[in-house]
Amino acid sequence: MAACELSLRVHAYHDGELPEAQRREVEEHLSACPACAAELEQLRGLSQALSTAVIPRVSPSFVQHIQSLAEPLEQVLLFRFGRRMTAAAAAMVLLATGYWVMNQKPPVATPVSSVSIAAWEQQVIYPDPRDAVASSDSAFDDFLRQDLSGGRP
Ligand SMILES: [Zn+2]
Repeated sequence: MAACELSLRVHAYHDGELPEAQRREVEEHLSACPACAAELEQLRGLSQALSTAVIPRVSPSFVQHIQSLAEPLEQVLLFRFGRRMTAAAAAMVLLATGYWVMNQKPPVATPVSSVSIAAWEQQVIYPDPRDAVASSDSAFDDFLRQDLSGGRP
């Protein structure tokens, strides 16, 4: 690695990526900077080595072996994806339920005074303690009879 701050430009110069003005600037710099000149020589040597390198061939059986591994891997990945999506869906349901519960308003109680009820219901719900002792069973029977008949006498 060159210690010069222009070494990155040397890389771009080597790759032919510099505009004409910068290319000339780097060429002038290369004649005055041994570190950049050495960097350029290394890059040229590396490029030469890579251009003559022999890329090994892969046997068809090795390709088949790799392809046979891909299918189970795909199933495992699909299973994991499904499991994660299920967990995410469960979390969403929990969050939505929690949000719904937290934002529930308590039911508004209807004031008793605004509800009109029949006299016989009033008597059953709020019995008069003076006559209720002996007739509590008959008041309940009346309530059931009136309720089942829909309030008709
Ligand atoms: Zn330099």
